[in-house]
Amino acid sequence: MKCFLRKKIGDRVINGHPWIFGNELGDSEGTAEPGDIVEVYSYNGSFVGKGYINPASQIRIRLLTRQKDDIIDDKFFARRIREAWEYRKQLGYVENCRLIFGEADQLPALIIDKFNDYFVIQTLALGIEKWKPAIVTALQKIFSPKGIYERNDVPVRSLEGMEQIKGFLSEPFDTNIIINENGLKFHVDIENGQKTGYFLDQQDNRRAIQHIVNGANVLEAFCYTGTFSLHAAHYGAKSVMGLDISENAVATARRNAELNGYSDICKFQAVNAFDVLKLWVKEGKRYDTVILDPPAFTKSRENIQKAITGYKEINLRGMKLVKPGGFLVTASCTNLVPPDLFLKTIEMAAKDAHRTLRQVCWQTQASDHPILWNVPNTQYLKFLIVQVL
Ligand code: SAH
Repeated sequence: MKCFLRKKIGDRVINGHPWIFGNELGDSEGTAEPGDIVEVYSYNGSFVGKGYINPASQIRIRLLTRQKDDIIDDKFFARRIREAWEYRKQLGYVENCRLIFGEADQLPALIIDKFNDYFVIQTLALGIEKWKPAIVTALQKIFSPKGIYERNDVPVRSLEGMEQIKGFLSEPFDTNIIINENGLKFHVDIENGQKTGYFLDQQDNRRAIQHIVNGANVLEAFCYTGTFSLHAAHYGAKSVMGLDISENAVATARRNAELNGYSDICKFQAVNAFDVLKLWVKEGKRYDTVILDPPAFTKSRENIQKAITGYKEINLRGMKLVKPGGFLVTASCTNLVPPDLFLKTIEMAAKDAHRTLRQVCWQTQASDHPILWNVPNTQYLKFLIVQVL
């Protein structure tokens, strides 16, 4: 099938964005089944690219290539995966990495996380779901993995008319695995952990706390399986308190402390961080370093204000808990809050807390989650360390 873009649309697609919305499409020739590969042309007939179509989705077509000669077959996916692996190896993300970061690896709606010999896959659009067998075969061939698992138990699949599922894509294996990161070991629960089981996007940021936790009393809220907490202990913290609302996460965090021999230093509690931070501010508790990595707070553009309010509130409380001259480590993981808005929010919190901030470190997700400039939402993680004067 050939699909033609309307004449009067912006130049987003022409400039490299792979998504084509329904209202950007005009004429078409031929027919296609949902999920099929189609060719896209501009209104005057010049070739734009090839991608997969889904009439049930607002994002009608996602482009896989802009090369007319590319044939979209099993080999094409194997090539893309090989290229992505070369990039990770070049940058030193070998043992664990986000092997495929969707649009940024020219494989829209595909996520593959590599945890040493294990792979976790998400196929978040119908058109990529159809190629799942080809993708699995390519992984088998390139990596001879010990196991492949799909974590397609995510609500966005409903926007593509797909059900939520999870399960093995290889022979069954023990889904509780251990990975190494920055000289520490972490339990990863591939089957029941959050998202793909582990947040690889913070792997460099965890290292960034190295010089601000030595001898410190540290508080980490939203700690999940205690990854920052364990790093703090590893880098010399005197004591670490980690908080997370999920009992499961806290149980794993405790096992991670044990695994690394830091059970005496790292303690964890399953609580609502909003309530506890508020209480501890009131009680006058103070820490040398406070680490905050809250969830996205919103999934939709309409609710950005709600997210801003959440970020401001939690950072205000976090700042108040930092001793003068101590450090706040804070992050935001949603692309709906752009970097400048996040900084503004932290600034507002500082004003309310009557504290002055001195910036130590300001960065984004690890480079195995590359940011494609033509696709702004590939930048989503904000990570900030400030000294709170
Ligand atoms: N820093 C972690 C990732 C944190 S993800 C890492 O790098 O591995 C956000 C976490 O916040 C999740 O584990 C979630 O369970 C937790 N969470 C969500 N709402 C919460 C709340 N109100 N209080 C405490 N934890 C909460």
